[in-house]
Amino acid sequence: MFEVVIGLEIHTQLNTKTKIFCSCATSFGEKPNTNVCPVCLGLPGALPVLNKEAVKKSIAFGTAINAIVNKRSIFNRKNYFYPDLPKAYQISQFEIPIVEKGEVFINLEDGTLKRIGVTRAHLEEDAGKNVHEANFSGVDLNRAGTPLLEIVSEPDLRSSTEAVLYLKKIHAILRYLNISDANMQEGSFRCDANVSIRPKGETKLYPRVEIKNLNSFRYIQKAIDYEVERQSEAWTEGAYDKEVVQETRLFNVETLQTRSMRSKEDSAEYRYFPDPDLLPVVVDDEMMQECVKIPELPDEKKSRYIKDFGIKAYDAEVITNSVELAKYFEEMLTYGASAKNSVSWLSVELLGRLEGGIENSPVKAQKLAALVKRIEDGTISGKAAKDILDFLMKNDEEVDAVIEKLGLKQVNDDGAIIAIIDKILEANADKATELKNGKDKLFGFFVGQVIKESKGAANPAKVNELLKAKLGI
Ligand code: ADP
Ligand code: MG
Ligand code: ZN
Repeated sequence: MFEVVIGLEIHTQLNTKTKIFCSCATSFGEKPNTNVCPVCLGLPGALPVLNKEAVKKSIAFGTAINAIVNKRSIFNRKNYFYPDLPKAYQISQFEIPIVEKGEVFINLEDGTLKRIGVTRAHLEEDAGKNVHEANFSGVDLNRAGTPLLEIVSEPDLRSSTEAVLYLKKIHAILRYLNISDANMQEGSFRCDANVSIRPKGETKLYPRVEIKNLNSFRYIQKAIDYEVERQSEAWTEGAYDKEVVQETRLFNVETLQTRSMRSKEDSAEYRYFPDPDLLPVVVDDEMMQECVKIPELPDEKKSRYIKDFGIKAYDAEVITNSVELAKYFEEMLTYGASAKNSVSWLSVELLGRLEGGIENSPVKAQKLAALVKRIEDGTISGKAAKDILDFLMKNDEEVDAVIEKLGLKQVNDDGAIIAIIDKILEANADKATELKNGKDKLFGFFVGQVIKESKGAANPAKVNELLKAKLGI
């Protein structure tokens, strides 16, 4: 009876070498306060200079989501006081963002595509970080001034599942464009989820709560689910007006609950005004032309895989969701493995054995392709290939050498297989007669026996064929 309404704000760190308004490095994990200068420390008199790369990467993103890229946008000061913000304002974009009115498509479980509007994507600087030690607190300003792209969606998402699909799509686009490493553990891709409910059929928006700084897909899903539950309960119990107010909430990863942090500030409270230290951002035609050239994106890649290789939509989705997986898959093809087998050996067998990401796989694309090719040319059985893959996960050796070493070469030689067939038929003469007399179920038994006798080496297709010939069936 309720409809869930969700809009997401994603903060993603652009992977420029230097910060957005100074030449300090953006590297992660350095000693506190080593990547700082008068500009990002907010010292009086220091002046910001815009990093062109950050603008270029934003334009690429705008192009990828089919948005309007504003040829003229402006920077504002967003005023608030917090210890990790030395200037007491954040430089951000407010009334004219660099990117607005875009869209992405998510693939729902029933196979349909759903359009999710992207209201805007604007450039801003990140704040520093408060660090709390056992007996003191400090502020690390290494992160202050790193470039962020804040991507704001329309309230078009209707479930936590849709929210996660949307996030994964944006995540994939950022990685395909190589404009952000979007590493969630390091905080370079984090999300605020705005959540409200309303009676089904109504179109007006009800008060929303904003859950801050979620940095894993799982937590985002859990936080939204909890919040939907809380709001629905309040409604049902007649306590909605009292308990669901516009506010900012925090998600507790231990209890999987959200709790109130502060009432939500109105934009008026930030006293936004254009930053007098920065000129408007003007994108000239030359820069625009350079930046709209973007690589193939996940959706296009997916359609191409389905069309050109006959891959199932689900598999195509899994592989194209990650730029590294897609690259690995395409590399397997260049080494001559077939698309269909590459898909299953990559997405089922290899991924099933991997602990980390594909980029750290001990078995590289060339080797997995070599393994697949040995199945395809009949040298080994699929089952043997699984054992070989297990071995390769722990040992850096060549596929052919491992086949020899483990003695897993498939027997394709007719004479050798017929000899085994004869032996098995003789040993099971009664059953052989029954089979000849029409007890078809026994055929599988004989195939199994022959393969077992060959210690798994006999090619099953060959066994089938030769056994039939032998029995005259
Ligand atoms: P702010 O910057 O103050 O957080 P915005 O008005 O830009 O706010 O909206 C932020 C996000 O909240 C957007 O993603 C928007 O889609 C979403 N949103 C706005 N109203 C609602 C609502 N009633 N329910 C759910 N999400 C909402
Ligand atoms: Mg917000
Ligand atoms: Zn600096």
